[in-house]
Amino acid sequence: MAKRILITGAAGFLGSHLCDRFIKDGYDVIAMDNLITGDVKNIQHLFKLDNFEFFHHDITKFIHVPGQLDYILHFASPASPIDYLKIPIQTLKVGSVGTLHCLGLAKEKNARILIASTSEVYGDPQVHPQSEEYYGNVNTIGPRGVYDEAKRFQESITMAYHRFHGLETRIARIFNTYGPRMRLNDGRVIPAFIGQALRGEDLTIFGDGLQTRSFCFVDDQIEGIHRLLLSDYSDPVNIGNPDEITIKDFAQEILMLTGTNQKIVYQRLPEDDPLKRQPDISRAKKVLGWEPKISRSQGMKITYDYFKNLSPEELEKSEHKDFSNHIRR
Ligand code: UDP
Repeated sequence: MAKRILITGAAGFLGSHLCDRFIKDGYDVIAMDNLITGDVKNIQHLFKLDNFEFFHHDITKFIHVPGQLDYILHFASPASPIDYLKIPIQTLKVGSVGTLHCLGLAKEKNARILIASTSEVYGDPQVHPQSEEYYGNVNTIGPRGVYDEAKRFQESITMAYHRFHGLETRIARIFNTYGPRMRLNDGRVIPAFIGQALRGEDLTIFGDGLQTRSFCFVDDQIEGIHRLLLSDYSDPVNIGNPDEITIKDFAQEILMLTGTNQKIVYQRLPEDDPLKRQPDISRAKKVLGWEPKISRSQGMKITYDYFKNLSPEELEKSEHKDFSNHIRR
């Protein structure tokens, strides 16, 4: 009999790619999303399949899924700085109450659960690159605190269910990931720069652009998550691409890729924006035999082609994030 998997946040960027992957592997997929930041168009191609079901549900309310469940992938959460600023309470609730409901459901069904954690648990890191042993440097009361602390709580409660109830749990610490189906208006740097290039606007760099990020292409990320779910490893595992670049150099790469000659303009750095970020993936290599395979130039080409083919209306829907109330003073 096919294995049944519940995916929360299924209409989001990573959630929808996970739906595709598990459908391809022959699972019965139960997709759940409240559609606050997710979009049905990311999964509507699956609606016609017999082994795919969609529940429009907010997991901060009790979750009811009839029948057996083998796995749960908990990916429901706003995941970009602009979203946490707009919907801070929902961000906290889905990471805490939503996670509690997912764990309760996993226990009830005797299912293995993988939760989507994040490099944000390391905050503005004082250790570089970040390995899983690092405890992090998070400002609990800053604008990003709602996401960071919800995710830290999520890891704690997941380990508590693992230790106290013997639940099979997996924790993926996901670093910046990009690819098709990112929301053009989520304010993240890749859709922001590509959207600006396509609309002929200036590229906005926050701060001096010397902050770094390390971008992982979505297909690599999904493969890492898949391997972690099927592994027997219950401590957190970083999944990301260690290829680090400054935002300033990245803006230049975007100009080359899009063949545009827009100006670069500088705006103030949002509060608590981490200065450096690079995953140490030694654990993922050792435990999962995984490392990313797709270079930034390959991945960015695929991503640019996706955004280039969006309709002009979709391109216009993009809005630029306004951090004016949250700038470092
Ligand atoms: N960033 C930028 N211009 C933009 C959007 C983002 O310079 O239009 C910067 C942002 O300040 C951060 C980096 O790009 O230093 C990555 O931002 P993103 O929101 O993609 O991810 P996160 O900060 O969560 O890693």
